[in-house]
Amino acid sequence: MSELIRSCSPQSPADVVAESAAVSPQQVRDLAGRARLAQVEWHRQGAAGRASALRAAADRLRDRADPITDLVVREVGKPVTEARAEVGRAAAILDYYAQACFAATGDLLAPSLPASQPGLLYTERRPRGVAGLVTPWNFPLAIPLWKAAPALATGNAVLLKPSPEAIACGAEVERLFDGLLPAGLLHVVPGGAETGRAVVEAADVVSFTGSAAVGAEVSVAAARAGLPAQAEMGGQNAAVVLPDADLASTAALLANAAMGYAGQKCTATRRIVVVGDPARFTEALVAAVAALRFGAPAEPGVAVGPVINATARSRVLDAVEAARASGGRVLTGGHGGDGLFVAPVLVDRVDPAHPVAREETFGPLVTIFGVPDLASAVKLVNGVRYGLVTSVHGGDVGMLLDAVRGIDTGLIRVNAPTTGVDFHAPFGGEKASSHGPREQGTAALDFYTSTRTVTFAAPPPPAPAPSRPVEEVA
Ligand code: NAD
Repeated sequence: MSELIRSCSPQSPADVVAESAAVSPQQVRDLAGRARLAQVEWHRQGAAGRASALRAAADRLRDRADPITDLVVREVGKPVTEARAEVGRAAAILDYYAQACFAATGDLLAPSLPASQPGLLYTERRPRGVAGLVTPWNFPLAIPLWKAAPALATGNAVLLKPSPEAIACGAEVERLFDGLLPAGLLHVVPGGAETGRAVVEAADVVSFTGSAAVGAEVSVAAARAGLPAQAEMGGQNAAVVLPDADLASTAALLANAAMGYAGQKCTATRRIVVVGDPARFTEALVAAVAALRFGAPAEPGVAVGPVINATARSRVLDAVEAARASGGRVLTGGHGGDGLFVAPVLVDRVDPAHPVAREETFGPLVTIFGVPDLASAVKLVNGVRYGLVTSVHGGDVGMLLDAVRGIDTGLIRVNAPTTGVDFHAPFGGEKASSHGPREQGTAALDFYTSTRTVTFAAPPPPAPAPSRPVEEVA
């Protein structure tokens, strides 16, 4: 009997949103076989056929924006404003990759053939086959689509394993493409780790987003099978506040970046490093966090809802206790509310070497540090194993540029929150945050294709006809 997967609403865990039997490894292999056959026809459809399917999926998503927004709120507890924004962004991602179907698929180079033998030297990017996509629950539309759309645009088939916490949203992704693709080209396969492993084994190219521990396992499995793979994982993202940053506006921006959606974004701010005396900024931040609306995610204006499940809630509360036990001072929050709600937590006086400061707690928990100068801030920012995103706040261009030069993260955002992703730009981190090539933008078109180089020499010119012997001349 296969395992039963069930997603429940975080704001009211008795509300079962969806149930499904986990797709078994054998079923995954069978579906991969069907997808591999369908891929040949899909690639043959050419750019115009693929673009029109992606555009139609975008239109369908926009037509169904209201019910799908409600589903995102219900299934993963995302505040409604953010859920609506995610739906809009997911449609824009489909539009972007619909257009990208027409991008050049290679380069023409100068051949080094002898002048007597003309020809062409060119590269050609070809689909890899079946893209195996494994995704988390926190962006249940945008992440599956920022992987599936470029994979499809470049002519691949797709096997998508959504998170067990987001199987209803995963099924919505499948429905977006109903009737638009060759039969068997795209399959959404609900399941847990066993199904995820089977997807990785059955694929020709692997894209994973999730925790660092699982990402490391996926990367090793893909490397063993000789597959191209990318893994986008967690972060322990810092925001650096320079002495000339505006206190109130920076505090409001960082409160949102840290606590919005209960801190359940890979790009959420988790450490705040204040250059100079942190007292005034800390006071402004406590006030800004208190001003965020905390409550039912379906209510307009709520910024902080519940965490995803009981394990996530215990992780946050345990981290608060560990911080307190090590001498940390809890400035606000730190207690559980009803159900899966956890009041946003700000902590200071934590040793930067303590695991609470160094490891990702995927929830509304932030540690604050004061440092004497920018060099110390950069050292603290870089002193963790992650390297996803950092934000820097202030007006002194020299200091801002020094910070950008010194910080070792894949994304740096100056006077902008750590959260927020531009789907047309390369996205990814350094160190334990990321493995393999970047995703999104045109980087994704490269990732889902393999480049071959063609040397095309024209046949040599025919040998000149021999001159007729003299005696034959009349
Ligand atoms: P997770 O690692 O627990 O699960 C991610 C996916 O992997 C799920 O679909 C899960 O079922 C599957 N899985 C679990 N074990 C597997 C295995 N052994 N082989 C193959 N698949 C397996 O992560 P999560 O709890 O869903 O998401 C939260 C994490 O994701 C956080 O660490 C967060 O930082 C990270 N995240 C990163 C990004 C990014 O782009 N860097 C974006 C969103 C979330």
